[in-house]
Amino acid sequence: MPVRPQSVPTLRAPLPVAPTLTKLGRAIRSLELPAIEKIAEELMGDAFQVLISTMLSAQTKDPVTLAASLRLFKVAPDPASLARLTTARIEKLIYPVSFYRNKAVHLKETARILVKDFGGQVPTTMEALLTLPGVGRKTANLTLIVACRSADNICVDTHVHRIANRFGWVRTRTPEQTERALYEVAPRKWWATINLHLVTWGQHVCKPIYPQCGRCLLNDTCPKIGVVREGRIA
Ligand code: SF4
Repeated sequence: MPVRPQSVPTLRAPLPVAPTLTKLGRAIRSLELPAIEKIAEELMGDAFQVLISTMLSAQTKDPVTLAASLRLFKVAPDPASLARLTTARIEKLIYPVSFYRNKAVHLKETARILVKDFGGQVPTTMEALLTLPGVGRKTANLTLIVACRSADNICVDTHVHRIANRFGWVRTRTPEQTERALYEVAPRKWWATINLHLVTWGQHVCKPIYPQCGRCLLNDTCPKIGVVREGRIA
């Protein structure tokens, strides 16, 4: 008879937001940064390149995003030069990121709009960013946080959505709901850094399947909501 997976039983309270983020902030210092943070560091936070890298990163592993971004920016470091490339050339430069064909179309069109409507600059409001093709709230929030140094945004991707629910901070079904809920429960001073902390933790420890609870500093207190099975520690 097949064995049904059991949720890890928990009666624990939600983790406190600020102390948990403080602990994670210390813990991630020794871990490799997510691709977008690395790109922002390497490229001095160039807003255009942060925007384009974030668009490339959707559904794509970090090393692939990083390599594709660097290949593309060697040839097209700004909106005008990207707008001049053919979509076929962009496809070749960004392959093998996921959905590279669609992304090539969106990148070219975004570059064209930036040149035509925004004077070659990346807009600095959510409203304007959302008018660009292929740009959703996650990309817009991350661009505002990383490139524009905004402290007023929370960027929620799948890691943030999953871990905020595991911690008991939110009870939500979609990243959009999680973003809205986090504005209510997280102190404002943490808004801009929640993404960096939870994405880094999610990539290294609190993984989507088989989270590494046995080597996690939050293991004794984390309510692990929705965790079906913990990873084995070698
Ligand atoms: S790895 Fe386990 S203990 Fe650590 S944060 Fe994730 S679910 Fe909680």
